[in-house]
Amino acid sequence: MTKEELRHFFVAEGDKAFRGNQVYEWLWNKGAHTFEDMTNVSKETRQMLQQNFVINHIKVDQMQKSSDGTIKNAVRLHDGLIVESVLIPTATRTTACVSSQVGCSLDCKFCATARLKRMRNLNPDEIFDQVVAIDKQSKLYFDRPLSNIVFMGMGEPLMNYNNVLKAIEKITSPEGLGMSPKRITVSTSGVPKMIKKMADDEVKFKLAVSLHSAIDEVRTSIMPFNETFPLNDLRDALQYWYAKTKHTITYEYVVWEGINDTKKDVEALIQFCRFAPSKVNLIEYNPIDDGQFKQANAQAIDMYKSMLEKHHITVTIRRSRGKDIDAACGQLANKS
Ligand code: SF4
Repeated sequence: MTKEELRHFFVAEGDKAFRGNQVYEWLWNKGAHTFEDMTNVSKETRQMLQQNFVINHIKVDQMQKSSDGTIKNAVRLHDGLIVESVLIPTATRTTACVSSQVGCSLDCKFCATARLKRMRNLNPDEIFDQVVAIDKQSKLYFDRPLSNIVFMGMGEPLMNYNNVLKAIEKITSPEGLGMSPKRITVSTSGVPKMIKKMADDEVKFKLAVSLHSAIDEVRTSIMPFNETFPLNDLRDALQYWYAKTKHTITYEYVVWEGINDTKKDVEALIQFCRFAPSKVNLIEYNPIDDGQFKQANAQAIDMYKSMLEKHHITVTIRRSRGKDIDAACGQLANKS
């Protein structure tokens, strides 16, 4: 319920409207999981709430810690389904990687989540609760609050756009967690129509696109939905995004042996980067069980880096974290 709806509910019950504000604050600011937690609300009111409402909070069923400090959570939802979320600590920041769907609507060949298929979308509160849980872990284990959020867990966030947006509203609102939208990145495999919608909605968070190839045939072979949303459409949408938001785009990119490790692949990427101001994250690949995809060798990565830099494109090589507990990029598949 929105705050207004809660206020109306209390007035209709013959109580004061501000009671709605109190309950709202408990839910969205203090992360209460039961009505009993709402200690500034009278016992009678708490009982009445208990009779009328349910808080479908998430439960961290299992927590695994990596040798590099990364924490992976198996998060049980109210209907028994499970998603995973990850806390990634570095020297300067703590990042929450959250899920937006149970399974995924898409079918990227290199991704463990794709094998689960989409079971349902997460509700806004289920996304929000993952952030609250990781913020608590960050304070408990690293003595600092969560600093960044990436929507890079299970699911394609733009296929659950409305709920992702509602969750981000709660995360960024001063009445919620008050986090800056600049510290939030929504990572998509590239759904052109939805990228344009985000631009029209004037969202303030950052955009990352899992590109992995700027050649249609190659991209379609590893991300089959590229056939429906080819690179030309993606390019148009990204140009539209930049024209409206003036926000630089990050391309997430894995280099695989025998798939996209040639000079021709880098040249296509350089060409694609010219369409809108962008930077490239070269991400280390984490094999999933079948071993079909293999990280390219160091020479191929160096070639990407030097060719991109020669064309004045910012490039960062990202080491994956949490590999030993299957918490790294592309490995989330409810194995724990
Ligand atoms: S990489 Fe992302 S979009 Fe592709 S299948 Fe995996 S979770 Fe879905």
